[in-house]
Amino acid sequence: MDTKRFETEVIHKGYHALQHHGSLSPPIFQTSTFVFDTAESGAKRFAGEEEGFIYSRLSNPTVAMLEERIASMENGEKGLAFGSGMAAVSAILLGLTKTGDHILCSEGVYGCTFGLLTLMEEKYHITHNFHSMSDEDSLRSAITDYTTVIYVESPINPTMKLVDIEMVSRVAKEYGIPVVVDNTFCSPYLQRPLDIGCDVVIHSATKYLCGHGDVIGGLAVGKKELLSHLAMTTQKDIGGVMSPFDAWLLLRGMKTLPVRMDRHCDNAKKLAALLKEHPAVENVLFPGDEDFPQYELAKKQMSNAGGLISFEIKGNKAMAQKFMNSLELIKIAVSLGDAETLIQHPSTMTHAVVPEENRMQMGISDRLLRLSVGLEAWEDIWADLEKALNQL
Ligand SMILES: *Cc1c(COP(=O)(O)O)cnc(C)c1O
Repeated sequence: MDTKRFETEVIHKGYHALQHHGSLSPPIFQTSTFVFDTAESGAKRFAGEEEGFIYSRLSNPTVAMLEERIASMENGEKGLAFGSGMAAVSAILLGLTKTGDHILCSEGVYGCTFGLLTLMEEKYHITHNFHSMSDEDSLRSAITDYTTVIYVESPINPTMKLVDIEMVSRVAKEYGIPVVVDNTFCSPYLQRPLDIGCDVVIHSATKYLCGHGDVIGGLAVGKKELLSHLAMTTQKDIGGVMSPFDAWLLLRGMKTLPVRMDRHCDNAKKLAALLKEHPAVENVLFPGDEDFPQYELAKKQMSNAGGLISFEIKGNKAMAQKFMNSLELIKIAVSLGDAETLIQHPSTMTHAVVPEENRMQMGISDRLLRLSVGLEAWEDIWADLEKALNQL
């Protein structure tokens, strides 16, 4: 079958019902191991001379369907599934580095990625530093002889700052350094980093790809040669693989990614505009806002602005917490990308581990809140926000 449009592939790619008794929904191959026809056949599978499954930590048919589907959605050659987003991040970063190497990171990274980088530095002497990557010259000056990975999140959590992925990838190519992009906040529906030059895309599939708040999972996509190597080393031997049932839930959730993302984006756009006008709100950080400092870059590399809004309320930490406690429909929870609208307080939750000084540098005050806009009627989400804001 030739390549169809995104909305079609996200439903069909990698599954052929007629090869599975016509079952419309793909089977869950809930098995740890696979039976070989003969001893010789088993030997050939281990030697790579015969196609076929061996053991589910190496590969499983339900998980393989998901890997084929995400590869197609990101326009990459090969996908890998992991037991969590962090299992994906750690397998990729450990797979691409050795003692003495240096990782150049965007100005902010996910809290546990920050923890992993610290661990890699302390235990394995793989150093890192954070950089704005705001222009070519400063990026060039930050690359050292030991830099073997450039690691980028865009938008950056929770300040929503963007990194120009095309520019970073172009410069990195001159130095032969692979660029890894954590694309969790956008999903492949809004941003496809491989198309603009990056080498590996990572997802916490827990978020928009799942969309229903019932799976912890991770995915990575890139060139076949590199991803196959990682599959046979840091994926297989560290072993953070995905279960067949979670792969099935993701195949199910991802079918509606385009329609869900459209609603997330529409709702977020309306709410960001309303928040901006409210007298109790000081500062709205949303890439779809025309006053957002990187609005033009957002339009260049994202097909829509996404479903996340960060904003500062006027006042202090106690008032931020009072505001959260006054909400009724909106749930106080970390994570994002679910049907339910979620709100969290980065300075005491997702970024509590980051030292206060670094947090302030990153622009994470204790008046900052991050809203993951859900799929409810925007009028109801706004009514909840407005009532709580008016109480301040
Ligand atoms: C949640 C998240 C992760 C980690 O994913 P898990 O599935 O929780 O392990 C990594 N990066 C980003 C941007 C995330 O939001």
